[in-house]
Amino acid sequence: MAGRAPPATTATIVDDDLIPATVPRHLPVNFAYLQAVTSIYDNDDLTAIRAQTRRFVEQEVLPNGDAWEDEGKVPRSVLQKMGEIGFFGLRVPEDYGGVGFGALASVAFAEELGRSTYGGFSITALVHTDLAMPYLLNFGSDDQKKRWLPGMLTGETLTAIAVTEADAGSDVASIRTRARPDGDGWRINGSKMFITNGGTADLVFVAARTHADAKGSRAISIFAVPRDTGGFSVSRALPKMGWHCSDTAELSFADCWIPDDHLIGEQDRGFYYIMTNFQNERLAIAAQAMGEASRALEITVEHVRQRKAFGSPLFDKQVVRQRLAMLSARLEAGRQLIHHAGWLMEQGEDAVKEVSMVKAYVGELANEVLYACVQFHGGMGYIKETAVERLYRDVRIHSIGGGATEVMLDEIAKRL
Ligand SMILES: Cc1cc2nc3c(=O)[nH]c(=O)nc-3n(C[C@H](O)[C@H](O)[C@H](O)COP(=O)(O)OP(=O)(O)OC[C@H]3O[C@@H](n4cnc5c(N)ncnc54)[C@H](O)[C@@H]3O)c2cc1C
Repeated sequence: MAGRAPPATTATIVDDDLIPATVPRHLPVNFAYLQAVTSIYDNDDLTAIRAQTRRFVEQEVLPNGDAWEDEGKVPRSVLQKMGEIGFFGLRVPEDYGGVGFGALASVAFAEELGRSTYGGFSITALVHTDLAMPYLLNFGSDDQKKRWLPGMLTGETLTAIAVTEADAGSDVASIRTRARPDGDGWRINGSKMFITNGGTADLVFVAARTHADAKGSRAISIFAVPRDTGGFSVSRALPKMGWHCSDTAELSFADCWIPDDHLIGEQDRGFYYIMTNFQNERLAIAAQAMGEASRALEITVEHVRQRKAFGSPLFDKQVVRQRLAMLSARLEAGRQLIHHAGWLMEQGEDAVKEVSMVKAYVGELANEVLYACVQFHGGMGYIKETAVERLYRDVRIHSIGGGATEVMLDEIAKRL
């Protein structure tokens, strides 16, 4: 795309209101890349989100990501800086202090975060904005939104969503954590497994059974549980194959009492809320995976153009360049389907089939892409200094977390 004039939106991007004066703007934004991410659904707002996210990644993530991976955490100050810029309000209605964009804004944000190549950082932010916060945004009361959204917008209140249990992951309806009515509130007992941001979140949305007799999906409710609630504790941090700077924890609820006004939405409607919010979650995770795989492919193309073997660059070997070319074609197909699914959601259409398709397709594809990227980096691809080594580990979760590929395929099959 070199040589093309920047889009007419350039000035808006650089001077955008969303960027406070305190945030430095001196780093160049790669407009060639931004133009390359064309889709019929792109508009100036989405381009601005991409530009701002890219600038933040260049200034804050790329210089520090390795240290965060070593420390096993993303500093809260970084998340608060994201809040200050306005990233956490992309989907929050203007009445509550956000900018009220739709699902495509999450796609732009997640894809650009994914391009940072630090999956653990990306998921820390995305769990807050696109996996947990939607419980409050979509189903919380006006009073609850006024109480909790201000802190969520600034990053002072980090959130998590706790659905999975040791014996209930894909099969959400079989969760056993129990909430019993007790006075003016509820007493929660049980445990949750693999909870992203679980060790550090200030507010956790917890799925629990609110009926002893009702079966499966008809007996689940969602509760907002603040970190300092008695009986709520972090049982252990869970070290992982990838996402090293993301906090993943097992949580325990032992006679944990919370008042009635911490029930999100209606009692026993939790399964429906989870299934509804899963659509945004899966779209955002697929967009993150897309950004990661796309960036890995670019890095690999650069590498094979430089790296010589048997007298010529690796790129000159037909088998190498054609494999990368086919992967890039499939990535582009996946990207267009992600954008289309996001657009369908913005139109209020049922997009379960399309979202399940992108989650299954891109989750698997990202793994295939990273396998090839490591392969074509040779020995260096196995060494921790390279982004592709990290991404190879990071993307493994994309065909498992947030809906395993097989579960997604059954969702598609039901709708064929
Ligand atoms: C790093 C990490 C972060 C996570 N973050 C969160 C979080 O923040 N909040 C949260 O609630 N959960 C979270 N999870 C949980 C995650 O969503 C689950 O791990 C996932 O849904 C799979 O559930 P499971 O691990 O119990 O696997 P199982 O349900 O035991 O499935 C195991 C495998 O069996 C296969 N399988 C499952 N069902 C079917 C089927 N119907 N047909 C064919 N094959 C099938 C799939 O290959 C699947 O991978 C996280 C997990 C990880 C590892």
